[in-house]
Amino acid sequence: MFPGFAPENSPDGIALLTRSFQSLVKNITDQERLFTCRVESIKAKQQELAARYQETQLLARRLQEIASLNEILFNTSDERELYLRVVNFLHKLYPRAIIRFLGTTKSHTKMCILADYGSPDSDQRMERCVKNPLDCLAIKRCRPVVFLHPDDHVFCCELSDLAGEYGYLCMPLIADGSAFGCINIIIKREDMPENGPPLLENDFKLLDLLTTHTALAINNNRLIKTVRREALTDRLTGLPNRRYAQEALQNEISRCARYNSVFSLALVDIDLFKTVNDNFGHDEGDRILTLLAEAAGKCLRKVDMTARYGGEEFLIILPQTEIENACLVIERFRKTFNQLTLSGTLEAKNITLSAGLSEFPTDGEDAPALIKVADDRLYMAKRAGRNRMIWNNKI
Ligand code: GH3
Ligand code: MG
Ligand code: MG
Repeated sequence: MFPGFAPENSPDGIALLTRSFQSLVKNITDQERLFTCRVESIKAKQQELAARYQETQLLARRLQEIASLNEILFNTSDERELYLRVVNFLHKLYPRAIIRFLGTTKSHTKMCILADYGSPDSDQRMERCVKNPLDCLAIKRCRPVVFLHPDDHVFCCELSDLAGEYGYLCMPLIADGSAFGCINIIIKREDMPENGPPLLENDFKLLDLLTTHTALAINNNRLIKTVRREALTDRLTGLPNRRYAQEALQNEISRCARYNSVFSLALVDIDLFKTVNDNFGHDEGDRILTLLAEAAGKCLRKVDMTARYGGEEFLIILPQTEIENACLVIERFRKTFNQLTLSGTLEAKNITLSAGLSEFPTDGEDAPALIKVADDRLYMAKRAGRNRMIWNNKI
């Protein structure tokens, strides 16, 4: 027998075996606990991953929806339709929220609701909400303003009457460094989740993307319209130019041909304008051209169109007007212009006009024919001593 070595069936041996067994059991229990912990942690991670995966899928779906919306926004020339599309899109995203699209006027002195969903008093609010853009924090700062707890102090004057009942997010629409509107998402107190904020980080990212693209689409739209308008407008008088006049004439011919209708046109030319320039200077000549545009605005109907057709030559289209009636209108216009040049700072320059008229379809069925007849009659008026109008080849 060796010292310190107890036989298995001796009391010491049994105690030793028991201790080893207990330690083994403890070890196994510890391992099991560790294992259970690891399983729990893996499960939690799995859940987190599943939630993240869902979040990412939702984000991807929303991004796709925003991309489709963008395509529509960039191809929508009607701005009102654009506001409605954005509001409807946000309404689908946040069905229980109030959505508002606000815009400033061109002069940036006023701001009003352009489209809106879910306001408690929608119609009245649309009328009432005319405010100073500088009262809007998001516009002033060019940064989003977020109050997602109803008890937060509300800075926005538009929303101050809703304070205590709602949380809101206000995203500015920015182009060329300045804000020209904003989008509000307003959430009622009862719709706020118990735990956590009503809008998550991904919501902010998406909304930021959406407002950036909306602002770009609007700005793009406005730029295209400005360029188009400028391309068709005479800079000096503000009247439509020759290109616009040719398109308008063609449209009027097509319309009248389809509806079996008539219209008249007049070519109006300032008499001896070269002498005016020679005697009084080019600037004074320019002023007289502007005066003629003013006289046209006073004498002609809104449906009539006056365009600057050449240097000191103007084309007037009078829809649904027979030539006998067009004569009366053009005579009134000639006299009004002449009176203007006899008064005020023009110091009785007595500048006159000559005009030649033609009628569709009697005098021609296409643009060149109608212009030629009017031009021939204008030439007749000049040869007959100017300061007159000819409409039927008779002087
Ligand atoms: P008529 O009675 O035969 O029409 O004589 P007129 O002198 O008006 O005609 P003419 O064609 O000889 O001269 C037209 C003048 O119009 C010459 C040109 O300098 C002037 N004119 C054309 N465009 C402008 C403009 O934008 N500003 C000014 N000030 N003058 C212009
Ligand atoms: Mg002339
Ligand atoms: Mg001329």
